[in-house]
Amino acid sequence: MARTDEFIRDVERYSANNYHPLPIVIEKGEGVWVTDVEGKKYLDMLSAYSALNQGHRHPKIIGALMDQAQKVTLTSRAFHNETMGGFLKTLCQMSGFDKALPMNTGAEAVETALKAARKWGLVKKGVPENQGEIIVCENNFHGRTVTIVSFSTEEQYRYGFGPFTPGFVSVPFGDAEALEKAITENTVAILAEPIQGEGGVLVPPAGYLAQMRELATRHNVLMMLDEIQTGLGRTGKLFAYQYEDAKPDVLLLGKALGGGVYPVSAMLASDGVMDVFGPGDHGSTFGGNPLGSAVGLAALEVLEDENLVQQAYTLGQHFMAGLKAIDSPLIKEVRGKGLLIGVEIKHEYGKARPFCERLMELGILCKETHEYTIRFAPPLTITKEQIDWALERIAKVLTEA
Ligand SMILES: *Cc1c(COP(=O)(O)O)cnc(C)c1O
Repeated sequence: MARTDEFIRDVERYSANNYHPLPIVIEKGEGVWVTDVEGKKYLDMLSAYSALNQGHRHPKIIGALMDQAQKVTLTSRAFHNETMGGFLKTLCQMSGFDKALPMNTGAEAVETALKAARKWGLVKKGVPENQGEIIVCENNFHGRTVTIVSFSTEEQYRYGFGPFTPGFVSVPFGDAEALEKAITENTVAILAEPIQGEGGVLVPPAGYLAQMRELATRHNVLMMLDEIQTGLGRTGKLFAYQYEDAKPDVLLLGKALGGGVYPVSAMLASDGVMDVFGPGDHGSTFGGNPLGSAVGLAALEVLEDENLVQQAYTLGQHFMAGLKAIDSPLIKEVRGKGLLIGVEIKHEYGKARPFCERLMELGILCKETHEYTIRFAPPLTITKEQIDWALERIAKVLTEA
């Protein structure tokens, strides 16, 4: 493990200590597989938190990246480029939204939505200036900026980082009654994840998103869904809200929108929301750049060409059934949708991390979320045989302990 130790030593010496990675140094990725610097192969069941829905280095996406890199990579939005329009057209046509505003990271897409909602509240709803309120859900994860951690309920995400941005009210996730009670005349938006990924793969009660849709419409409040993790096929639908036909006013995408090769995110909305932004109101140097747009377009085309959404639905059911069939006293609950699945370990048996370490030894990469839950989210290109291969090993780890 000499090479592994050497690479890790550099990171520990020269980087901030803001992560606690498993002790593996990945050298190469292809499809669902990665190889470490020692030559050992692993099945990637984290997919960079769902940024690799299309698998590692998908040839079509890498091809688009290389072709565009030979032409022009960055223009800034001071000028037009030839790829941004086509990318956003496909994104809007596939999703059914009028317009999309391209950014880079997920957190930036969320920030864009918060700004849009506040300004919409002022100019469209007539909420007094600086009085707009946004309702969020407990246990949320929307990114790491100061404003976004201002409404996190995770103490560690906030500790030491105040003073915080005001204007947020949080309610229990999955509770439509609490949501309605929190709405005031100054409420401009509700922001939620359809399934809380970082929160521990928490699935709300059936009907929750439909109720949110109804409440938002009735009270003239924007419904904003963060599908940065759940979107683009992950849950077995193109978007998780489609399980309840609860189309939001604002949809946030990121992660897999960049096909696992380049950061691409976007805020999608109707004309009536997007038109609150005029020239100079908002922007990003790299947002909508030619390279990212070429990659984003290819990432969407791969989802469609390879029928990955349906694949995630079918294989998700198979994987879920296989996990539920594991007879182990350690398992508290198996939950999720499509290929976003959490296995929660009974707390008296300790945290999930040692199980992830053991799975790594057996050639499966995954990561705990919220201490007690192992999250399984492989690339959507995974096959049934590969899932069965993983199930054997997962069952072994959960029954041998
Ligand atoms: C990952 C994630 C984000 C933040 O995306 P970054 O690209 O890390 O800024 C926001 N919301 C959800 C639901 C996420 O999973």
